[in-house]
Amino acid sequence: MAALSTEEQQIVELVARWVDDEVRPVVNELEHANAYPEALIEQMKQMGVYGLAIAEPYGDFAVSARCYAQVTEEIARGWMSLAGAFGGHSVVSKLIARFGTDEQKQRYLPRLATGELRATMALTEPDGGSDLQALRTVAKPVADGYIINGSKTWITNARRSGLVALLCKTDPDAEPRHRGISILLVEKVAGFTVSRDLPKLGYKGVESCELHFDDCHVPTDALLGGEEGKGFSQMMQGLETGRIQVAGRAIGVARAAFDDALGYAQERQAFGVPIWQHQSVGNLLADMATQITAAQQLNYHAADCLDSGRRADMEAGMAKLFCSEMAAKVTLDAIRIHGGHGYSTEFDVERYYRDAPLMIVGEGTNEVLRNVIVRQVVDRNGLV
Ligand SMILES: Cc1cc2nc3c(=O)[nH]c(=O)nc-3n(C[C@H](O)[C@H](O)[C@H](O)COP(=O)(O)OP(=O)(O)OC[C@H]3O[C@@H](n4cnc5c(N)ncnc54)[C@H](O)[C@@H]3O)c2cc1C
Repeated sequence: MAALSTEEQQIVELVARWVDDEVRPVVNELEHANAYPEALIEQMKQMGVYGLAIAEPYGDFAVSARCYAQVTEEIARGWMSLAGAFGGHSVVSKLIARFGTDEQKQRYLPRLATGELRATMALTEPDGGSDLQALRTVAKPVADGYIINGSKTWITNARRSGLVALLCKTDPDAEPRHRGISILLVEKVAGFTVSRDLPKLGYKGVESCELHFDDCHVPTDALLGGEEGKGFSQMMQGLETGRIQVAGRAIGVARAAFDDALGYAQERQAFGVPIWQHQSVGNLLADMATQITAAQQLNYHAADCLDSGRRADMEAGMAKLFCSEMAAKVTLDAIRIHGGHGYSTEFDVERYYRDAPLMIVGEGTNEVLRNVIVRQVVDRNGLV
């Protein structure tokens, strides 16, 4: 397995220290106020978190996927919402860096790298997010660009993002359907509205919104890469990074839950001994530590695959599936270990438990990912 370079290790350590010093002391208050973490986001920009996926000459330094996964882990260990605040941004940055025209790279990447411009990706629609090829948002080609009509939902960071990578149909009649799908880089222009912030179980402080496009005109050069019909395949490649990021978020949340549970189990006494000495509690801690370690190795493996330039859809899918299911279990077990305090909003464990299910659903549900994995398992092993 590839190791982090010295510079990458320093980045992960810097972020970990920042999480302990700046995030953990304020997170409970921000969470329960559902307050947008303006000051923390500014500090993330200063640390270069928004530019992690952008190489020179547009950014300072693009880190490896393994480093990116570890930075995500550390930030999610402090607050999952902060990790979500740069996940889609990194995917859009990678899409532009990989598929964008020179003009698109020059226009967007330098500002995305500093976080001055933030980006999000809009795939999901009110009628469904899993069957993406059935999407209904249409961008009709006209002489000087496209006219967009349609709606998107659950789009994270939509209010604070100045750029949306919009998955839409430029040819609704194309067969196969994916050949009619393109990505448009849409700025906040007339006809595009962010209409509603959706109320949610966790992932507080950061907005997830409905978007509407009503005869929204964008120029021809908004088309990612300048070629229609490539959007589905471009986005699927972007989602490999997205799924490694979501897996990293799940690991970070699980690590926080484990750390809290381990500390609590040593301080809390029952029947005259610290509770970790009761075998049932000790077994929970042993299983939590084992599962977190396994999840990390799986995600780093997926990241290394991505870095090697190979297709990593199966590996990223496995990592997202395993890590998110692991986080759901570990966060519930952390509540068990905390007893009644686990149910209290004065402790952080209830937040981890509310945040964990997002990673099961986001960036492709785990049910859909199992379909991706089994298809690859059959393809790669050959048919009998
Ligand atoms: C807080 C939050 C933030 C989000 N942020 C974004 C964002 O920034 N951008 C964005 O585009 N989307 C975002 N999403 C949307 C998310 O990606 C979708 O919710 C997800 O892809 C599922 O789509 P859906 O909700 O329409 O469920 P549906 O597609 O309606 O699925 C419903 C159920 O059916 C199952 N199902 C569907 N098809 C199959 C199948 N073929 N095989 C097996 N089971 C199947 C699903 O697994 C699920 O259990 C976000 C969601 C949340 C909750």
